[in-house]
Amino acid sequence: MFTKAIGVDLGTTYTLIHVPHKGVIINEPSVVAISALDRRVIAVGAEAKDMLGRTPDTIIALRPLKDGVIADYKITEAMLKYFINKALGTFRLFRPDVMVAVPAGITSTERRAVLDAAVAAGAKQAYIIKEPIAAAIGAGIPIGNSFGHMIIDIGGGTSEIAVISLGGIVVSTSIRVGGNKFDASISDFLKKKYSLGVGERTAEDIKIKIGSAIYLEQPLEMQVRGRDMITGLPKTITITSNDVTDAIQNELNAIVSAVKLVFAGTPPELAADIIEYGITLSGGSSLLVHMDKLISRATNVSAHIAEDSLLCVAKGTGIALDNLAVYKKSLVAGAQR
Ligand code: ADP
Ligand code: MG
Repeated sequence: MFTKAIGVDLGTTYTLIHVPHKGVIINEPSVVAISALDRRVIAVGAEAKDMLGRTPDTIIALRPLKDGVIADYKITEAMLKYFINKALGTFRLFRPDVMVAVPAGITSTERRAVLDAAVAAGAKQAYIIKEPIAAAIGAGIPIGNSFGHMIIDIGGGTSEIAVISLGGIVVSTSIRVGGNKFDASISDFLKKKYSLGVGERTAEDIKIKIGSAIYLEQPLEMQVRGRDMITGLPKTITITSNDVTDAIQNELNAIVSAVKLVFAGTPPELAADIIEYGITLSGGSSLLVHMDKLISRATNVSAHIAEDSLLCVAKGTGIALDNLAVYKKSLVAGAQR
């Protein structure tokens, strides 16, 4: 194996790894299972996610990047190491360069921690790139020119909205609202309206199958199984996409308000560019049906979902590594040991 450059999308819900010529080779939940007694790491990724919600008291499953900040440094380090090692395989002829995309909101101490973790995991050089920049590069936006572009990455834990020009972020905001909060609100809604208790996974399933960001004239329906909160017995009900739209209204409003706030802080010339080019959406939650329509209705600017919207950030890290000279000034830090 001659992997010399590894790009990492350290997402709040999924971690993706990109390597040259192969593309994205790892796509696993950002979850770590640890022992409650001594905080020893028991499992990482898909295996750890399977333990969420069904683990005995002695094992805790954690999302170390919950809400877009590094909630637990040690656990994040263990996770990053695990994924980089997995990507490298057993034969190691080279120490690779590693580029990690992190939520734009993390602190410089947290960035340093991620760089150190990448080096500890075997990187020769480690770089950090802010997620919106990586997303824009991966979405094919020519970020280096003076034209203004708006990218909205709606992930699991956060939504990041940024205006980019000349390779840098001009205005941005990050809110702790994303697909995970949608799921929690859907579950709350079903409890309140139908006395039906459902787990995190069922809520996500409902969202992906019938969810919509705007009310539909011909709503889709879905049968949902859960536990009756009053009798405690299993029950099945039928819900519609408009139920889902109702359930996530607050979250959708929060995203729209954040977008408007970024527009309000955008210099007029760049705003004119954005009107011309349109807004680009990336991230898993941009795939919620009619998310693009919701944003364009609220802003009067056209919005389109980037190709391979779930892979944009990972692809962006790969492209940035391939063209270090071009993107060097867009990188937050580099570590050389
Ligand atoms: P992060 O970068 O925070 O790890 P991702 O960009 O990978 O997040 O997006 C994960 C989120 O996208 C999850 O909340 C998931 O439920 C949601 N998601 C994935 N596919 C869809 C879809 N088709 N419709 C709505 N939400 C989706
Ligand atoms: Mg992401």
